[in-house]
Amino acid sequence: MTGKILVSACLMGHAVRYDGRAKPLHHPAIDRWREEGRLVTICPELSAGMVVPRPPAEIADGAGGEDVLAGTARVMEISGGDVTEAFRQAADNALALAEQTGCRYALLIDGSPSCGSGFIYDGTFSGGRHAGHGVTAALLKRAGIEVYSDREIDRLVERIAAAG
Ligand code: SF4
Repeated sequence: MTGKILVSACLMGHAVRYDGRAKPLHHPAIDRWREEGRLVTICPELSAGMVVPRPPAEIADGAGGEDVLAGTARVMEISGGDVTEAFRQAADNALALAEQTGCRYALLIDGSPSCGSGFIYDGTFSGGRHAGHGVTAALLKRAGIEVYSDREIDRLVERIAAAG
């Protein structure tokens, strides 16, 4: 078996989101991958010491995870707290775990300032969103890990079937 999958803990049913909820993804492939021992679960934000619940955070000024990694954008809480360093640490932790465990793929929930890979929110806390990556997704991608959002699980199924 080749290729483990790093997966967002909230997708696996863990109540780790900022609002204290999970967002479980129900798909036959999840059960199969679990039985095959392919899944490596992490909540990057909790791994960096964040707590549940916590204030919602967004990448400021319509920027993306790549900008945060480059030091040109910040991650801010709705309450005004600057959590940029914690989000960078979260991404580092996720990449370290992916590398230690041999993850070639990541299946991450979309929209999160850490895990988003299709879209993220624009920093205004008004529901505005744009195409982009969260900080963890950006770092994993930069390291060559193939990142899929929860909405792309069927594409990941096909990718893994093709890879064998
Ligand atoms: S950091 Fe990722 S795994 Fe953790 S709650 Fe946010 S979206 Fe879920």
